[in-house]
Amino acid sequence: AQAPLTKHIIMLPFMAQGHLIPFLELAHQILHHNPNFTITIANSPLNITYLRSAIANNPSPPSQIHLKPLPFNSSDHGLPPNSENTDGLPLSQIIKLFHASAALEPPFSEFINDVVSRNPISPVCIVSDIFMGWANDVAKCYGVVNYSFTTGGAYGTAAYCSIWMNLPHRNLIDGETRDEFPVPGFPESCRFTITQLHQYLRAADGKDEWSRFFQPQISLSLRSNGWFCNTVEEMETLGLEVLRNYIKLPVWCIGPLLPLKMLENNSGSDTGSGIIGQRSGKQHGIQPEKCIEWLDSHPIGSVLYISFGSQNTISETQMMELAKGLEESKKSFIWVIRPPLGFDLKGNFKPEWLPTGFEDRIGKQGLVVHNWAPQLEILCHRSTGAFLTHCGWNSVMEGLSQGVPLIGWPLAAEQGYNAKMLVEEMGVCVVLARGVHSKITKEEVSGVVNVVLGKVEGGKGEDMRKKANNLKELIRASVKGSSYKAMDDFLTTFDSEF
Ligand code: UDP
Repeated sequence: AQAPLTKHIIMLPFMAQGHLIPFLELAHQILHHNPNFTITIANSPLNITYLRSAIANNPSPPSQIHLKPLPFNSSDHGLPPNSENTDGLPLSQIIKLFHASAALEPPFSEFINDVVSRNPISPVCIVSDIFMGWANDVAKCYGVVNYSFTTGGAYGTAAYCSIWMNLPHRNLIDGETRDEFPVPGFPESCRFTITQLHQYLRAADGKDEWSRFFQPQISLSLRSNGWFCNTVEEMETLGLEVLRNYIKLPVWCIGPLLPLKMLENNSGSDTGSGIIGQRSGKQHGIQPEKCIEWLDSHPIGSVLYISFGSQNTISETQMMELAKGLEESKKSFIWVIRPPLGFDLKGNFKPEWLPTGFEDRIGKQGLVVHNWAPQLEILCHRSTGAFLTHCGWNSVMEGLSQGVPLIGWPLAAEQGYNAKMLVEEMGVCVVLARGVHSKITKEEVSGVVNVVLGKVEGGKGEDMRKKANNLKELIRASVKGSSYKAMDDFLTTFDSEF
């Protein structure tokens, strides 16, 4: 008898940490479900290096995952040398990287041609990032199936796509004081506001460089055979209804794309370092063991964790007020800090960006981690009681999977819509600030931190914790429930394509 044909899934993430990480987790999830696949992740050389060290950090790396570097030279696109990832780039360069990502098309196409011609009868499919819509053209060219993967949640993705494609805020009449507008696909009563939009989107008119990237890439992704979404079916009822109506394609909710270790019932106690494994392939600004040790010395649910994701930072004034507010709150915190807006994010941190004597004064109250922290291990630790986040979707899923309530400070992309949903639909978040121009005071910071970490019976903090804990249960149940079924359904659909 002939050996069964190995199915080959070729993945193409967008060039950003928050996309590479869930793509790698998606590969793990597929193999966990069915180990008889070969999976190749293609990307620019530096991103392949990140992925390679992330895979090497896995205590039992699956042999079915392969990596394919595609040549890419950032200097050809007016970017600084070795800029292959949004990480550390200012906004003006990020848009260049978005447009430059299309330069991966010729080598990617050549690679698919190679795979298909070497083994013409093996089933092949491409799973591409919704920002890499051009992969759909490549798939069509070689008669290969294409699925898209949005690394965002359903609500945030639906709002992001609909707003970029329709630019509904442009219908607001100049000078009108009301800044609310409906978004096509969302119920009339679910209004969005200008303040939830990133500055470049507020100014978009369909001809600007941002629209010229997003509109065609989203349109192309709408031609794929279906979308994966890193969410849980029961968690985003409204978001999924809107997304499905809007894209008119199957949507498989296969989240949470997290290491299974994080979803076991005993996590949330001291996890010890190294158990989860580093997923990003990036250098930590602190040894994970040190972080855990520090957390071990604090009471349960008492620590605030602060991080703005892999590529964002806040302004100098905001950083100063945040520091003062944290000090004034008297609550314990771990703060992942990088240089403020306008400075080299990968450069040295200057003490003048924080109040004089800040780090000496806070002593045991706070742990300042430069640049990159072991986020999963911090969120899994039982001493962590709240998460001040930019509401990037990976961070949201990571926090909620541990039942940690959120303080939102959305900064870019679909983060403003995520925050809106977390507040309005889920009740697990309070928004402290929006963007890099929002004025915050130390009193506001200290007030919000005390509310969310507060242990007052019947108080807001308790209510948020309860709701976050319910979501944690729901997320964990999906691993053997709805998300498991969705993956099964996807694999059956994939089979039926051949
Ligand atoms: N992350 C981390 N350490 C840090 C900052 C971020 O491990 O100090 C990880 C985080 O756990 C998450 C990802 O980087 O998986 C950030 O993704 P997210 O979608 O939250 O935000 P983005 O970086 O895409 O804005």
